[in-house]
Amino acid sequence: MDLRERDRAVLWHPCTQMQDHERLPPIAIRRAHGVWLEDEHGRRYLDAISSWWVNLFGHAHPTISAAVCRQAQDLEHVLLAGFTHEPAVALAERLIEMSPAEPENKKRLTRCFYADNGSTAVEVALKMSFHYWRNRGDTRKTRFIALENAYHGETLGALAVSDLPLYRESYGPLLMDVIRAPSPDCYHRKPGEGWGAYSARRFEPLARLLERHADEVCAVIIEPLVQCAGGMRMYHPVYLERLRAACDAVGVHLIADEVAVGFGRTGSMFACEQAAVSPDFLCLSKGLTGGYLALGAVLTTDEVYGAFYGDFASRIAFLHSHSYTGNPLACRAALATLGLFDERPVLEHNRLLARTMATATAHLHDHPHVAEVRQTGMIVAIELVKDKVHRVPYPWQERRGRIVYVHGLSRGVLLRPLGDVIYFMPPYVITEDEIRLMAEVATEGIERATAE
Ligand SMILES: *Cc1c(COP(=O)(O)O)cnc(C)c1O
Repeated sequence: MDLRERDRAVLWHPCTQMQDHERLPPIAIRRAHGVWLEDEHGRRYLDAISSWWVNLFGHAHPTISAAVCRQAQDLEHVLLAGFTHEPAVALAERLIEMSPAEPENKKRLTRCFYADNGSTAVEVALKMSFHYWRNRGDTRKTRFIALENAYHGETLGALAVSDLPLYRESYGPLLMDVIRAPSPDCYHRKPGEGWGAYSARRFEPLARLLERHADEVCAVIIEPLVQCAGGMRMYHPVYLERLRAACDAVGVHLIADEVAVGFGRTGSMFACEQAAVSPDFLCLSKGLTGGYLALGAVLTTDEVYGAFYGDFASRIAFLHSHSYTGNPLACRAALATLGLFDERPVLEHNRLLARTMATATAHLHDHPHVAEVRQTGMIVAIELVKDKVHRVPYPWQERRGRIVYVHGLSRGVLLRPLGDVIYFMPPYVITEDEIRLMAEVATEGIERATAE
C-alpha cells in the first residue's frame, strides 16, 4: 500500500471534511528546507502560509535543528512541577526581557507560565484572570468580553471566546456565555474613511459594554491588529491604545492573544508594541518555536502572580497543568529561534520583504473580483467577492478559494485560503523572486476562481 492508502485507512485530518480526500488526497511530504516542501515524488511546494503560521525562519533550519538534537541527547523531558531545567528558565528570562512594556514600565510582564499550544495558552489566561479576581475576593467577575470575528483556538474555553460559526456552530450548547463586542476590522469602513478613524469609532460600543459590565467581567480578550483565522481582517493600533486605557479605568484585565501575530509578523516584535501598550496576559505559541514543536506561554504581571502566592492552606495556588509543560526540546527550539533574531536585523529585513509583497500584489487592487488587498507587515490578504462595488461575497458553497488552492498546488505554491480570502504569510527567509512567484501563481488562481 502506498502512503496515501495507508493514510486513508487510519488517519483523521484536522480542519478537513474527510470526503474531500476522495478527489484530492493529502500530499505526502518527505522533507522540507527553507520555504520549500518536497513531496514523495520530488515535487516542490513553496510554503506561502508558513505551515499554518508557525514557521518563521524556514523548514529544517540548521541552527534550530542542531539545538533540538543536542537537547535530545541530554534531557528530553522532565515534569516541571517540583523540578526545573535550564531551557525553561532561560526561555522565560528571554520572553520576559523582550515582552512589550509600557512607557516608564507602567505595566510590565514579569512571569511566564507554560502551556503546550495556542489554545491551552488561551485557556490558561482565561482561568488565571478569573481566578485572580476570585482570589482577590471578587466572585462577581465570571464573564469575558471577546470580539466579533475572533479566533482563539478550539478547546472549549478558547472556542467560547471565538466567533467563527464554521468552528463554533455545532458546539454552541457546550460553550460559556461571552459578551460580544463589534470588531474594529477595517474591511467594513466607509469609502474614504481611514483605518484609524474607523477603528477608533468601533471602540465606542466596547467602551459602553465595559462601563455597563465591568462588575461581572474578568477580562477582554483580543487578537492585536490582525484577526487571522477570521480572514486576515486588520485594524488600527489606536483601538488597542483605547482598550488598554478603558480596561485600566474600570478594573478589567486585557488578554492579548499574540499566538499568530507575535514574533515579528506585523512589523514589530509584538503587535501590542505598535500601540505602546502591554496586556495583563500575553498568549504566545505558533512562531515561538520557529515551527518546530508545540509550545505555549502566557506572560503576566507581578500583580497577577502575587494574588496566587501564599500559604498552601490558603488554597489560592494556580493548579493548572499539562503533562508536557515547559518541554525542554520545545524550549530549546524557541531559544534557538529567538537567537536568530539577534544574529540578523530580521524586522528590518522583513520591512523590505513586506514592500516587495505590496508591489507584487498591487495590480490586484483593480481586479473586478477583488474587494480589497490589505497588509500588515508580513501578512497580505486578498478578499475575493462576487460584486466589487457592493462587496457581495460569493456564496460559500461555491468554494472559490479552493479553486485557488488547487491551482496553487498544481503550480507548486501552497496557498490555503480562508474561505475566499487568499493570503500570504510566508517564512521570513523567502526571497524577492519567491514572493513574485507566489503572487503570480495566486493571480492565476484568482483568474480561474473568478472566471464565471
Ligand atoms: C492558532 C491560534 C490559536 C490556537 O493555537 P493552537 O496551537 O492551534 O491551539 C489561538 N489564537 C490565535 C490568535 C491563533 O491564531
